Amino acid sequence: MADFKVTELSNELDFESLSSWDVVIIGAGPAGLAASLTTAHRGLTTLVIEAKDKPGGQPQFLYADKKIVDIPGFPDGISGEELSERTYRQAVDALVQFRFNDELVSIEDTDQEEKGEPLKRVVTKEGEYLCRKVLIACGLLHFPRRLPVLDALESKSVFYKIPKIGDYDGRQVVVIGGGDSALDAAVMALERNAQVDVLVRAKAIAGKADTAERVKQSGGHIHLATEVTAAEYQAGAMALTLTDGQQLLADYVVVQVGFLSAKETFQRLDVRLNDDGSIAVDPYFETSRRGLFAIGDVHGDIKLITVAWAEGIQAAIYAFKEITSPYWLNEKRLRDQKISMIGDKITQAATQSRTR
Ligand SMILES: Cc1cc2nc3c(=O)[nH]c(=O)nc-3n(C[C@H](O)[C@H](O)[C@H](O)COP(=O)(O)OP(=O)(O)OC[C@H]3O[C@@H](n4cnc5c(N)ncnc54)[C@H](O)[C@@H]3O)c2cc1C
Repeated sequence: MADFKVTELSNELDFESLSSWDVVIIGAGPAGLAASLTTAHRGLTTLVIEAKDKPGGQPQFLYADKKIVDIPGFPDGISGEELSERTYRQAVDALVQFRFNDELVSIEDTDQEEKGEPLKRVVTKEGEYLCRKVLIACGLLHFPRRLPVLDALESKSVFYKIPKIGDYDGRQVVVIGGGDSALDAAVMALERNAQVDVLVRAKAIAGKADTAERVKQSGGHIHLATEVTAAEYQAGAMALTLTDGQQLLADYVVVQVGFLSAKETFQRLDVRLNDDGSIAVDPYFETSRRGLFAIGDVHGDIKLITVAWAEGIQAAIYAFKEITSPYWLNEKRLRDQKISMIGDKITQAATQSRTR
């Protein structure tokens, strides 16, 4: 077997004319990138579909400038942007192929086969791809929720992600939202000498109490039970009218009020879901649909970069093992699958007897 550190894929391979891929991965966040370089290192042709125009997932789009301090091996921390770029470069070097600005629509079963294995058709907004295995790594958070009252201004100074460090110096920054991302944004702006007002719709902060305390101690003002009711331009700045009639001037507005969930996408995939709407997987990260794996935030309890990496790597290796030694030849998996089916039946019977 190939040394997993040395890809067997050749630079000479014409990826554009492949009739089918070994693996298609949905999402170029930490889980998808780690999975992709693992399958490509093992010589599997690997295509990653990413909805946005850049790789990296949440670390790139939500907290590019945050210093991440919990990645082993980076004692001085590393920014979301740098971590994303490094992982992406590793995947590109392993000859993973990427399609950006494209989005998963559905995954269909086909009657076509590759080496005795039925192929799946991944349908995206821009095309269709036949493949042997699909890894769903699209995270739970998709596009940020927007505030129509601010969108009407069509301002380039309204951000739905945290703008780059250096942009705040001496400026008036309004942060909207009461969760951890909003408080993180406020702290970062305050650290760059901005004057910060945080507007929270609820009567209490949802984010960490100690971060809220840091905001206050650094001079930030937190307004509870407050929303923006109107917004207009005044002398080059944005003037925001608040619920209590007060007006705030803002050079920048950072909106962190949650996300449109990817759970709608999961429902279209025809896979078993957990009670909370996340994707149910077996110990091999395979979903209820054979050949479809789910990794990272899409199902996990612990939502961390390193966990997403680990799951991506494990699922990639299971997918690789199935491609090189198919499921029906793998006795351990067969036994585990039987045990899991028995477990499902017991759960179903218990649920039925409770509802009778
Ligand atoms: C504010 C904040 C701070 C955090 N800080 C840390 C930290 O310090 N340390 C840490 O370990 N973790 C941190 N996390 C958690 C960490 O970012 C996530 O657990 C991790 O990004 C999950 O990776 P993922 O690949 O599963 O999903 P994501 O990072 O969400 O990536 C999913 C990718 O899939 C794409 N996608 C979505 N839908 C589709 C579709 N239909 N078709 C194609 N592509 C699609 C998305 O555009 C995205 O690029 C933080 C999270 C937040 C919100």
